[in-house]
Amino acid sequence: MSDSSNNSFTTISNYQIGLLNGSELKLLWETVEQFGIEHIRFTPGSQITVSKLAEDQLTEFVNTLKPLLKPLPTNGITSIYNCNEHGECRKGCIATGKIVKKLCSLDLPQPMPARIKAAVAGCPRCCTMPRLRDIGMIPASARESTWHVYFGGHGGRIPRIADLIGEHLSLDESLALVRRALIVYQSEAKVKTRTSSYLRTTTLNSFLEKIGKITSLDSGQGI
Ligand code: SF4
Repeated sequence: MSDSSNNSFTTISNYQIGLLNGSELKLLWETVEQFGIEHIRFTPGSQITVSKLAEDQLTEFVNTLKPLLKPLPTNGITSIYNCNEHGECRKGCIATGKIVKKLCSLDLPQPMPARIKAAVAGCPRCCTMPRLRDIGMIPASARESTWHVYFGGHGGRIPRIADLIGEHLSLDESLALVRRALIVYQSEAKVKTRTSSYLRTTTLNSFLEKIGKITSLDSGQGI
């Protein structure tokens, strides 16, 4: 349920925290007080990290906060960075809640070779850094609700800007493309090879060609 980054901080690893209203914020505040938490931090992936939480209190702490927590995907996508989920950003042009839900339930082959970080942006300003994630989705046009889809980005030690693999796609077309890209990656990449490293071993044209060949698997996925 958690991982400890050091002796005093614990990340609630299977959950993200979303938009909070006043009463939810009050519950968070009261829970922090109740458990004697010294510091709380929201990570860029919307997880929470707390200090001074005793190991034997973790389950109770998580259960108390359950009304505020959203389970992370279990389909091989490790984390999803998103903004403007409910249209809360005044600069946003598309509310991203629907697409995040669909990414979480995408039917993917298992196991994935490595972590898959996805990011959905609510407008082309890209605050969630979709071009530096394994999967990135950026609105192409608010008026038509279409998307640009990116694959193979990485923001770590060896950064890589993701490749554009689809332009001006509908939501369903975008999700189908993401799924096909992950199927190819899952079948070809060695264990612990991130999408960015995998794409360094091939050419974009070759990858796109392989993605294009997977068409029959898209049917019946409920996307
Ligand atoms: S990308 Fe930035 S500016 Fe655009 S909707 Fe998201 S948070 Fe707002």
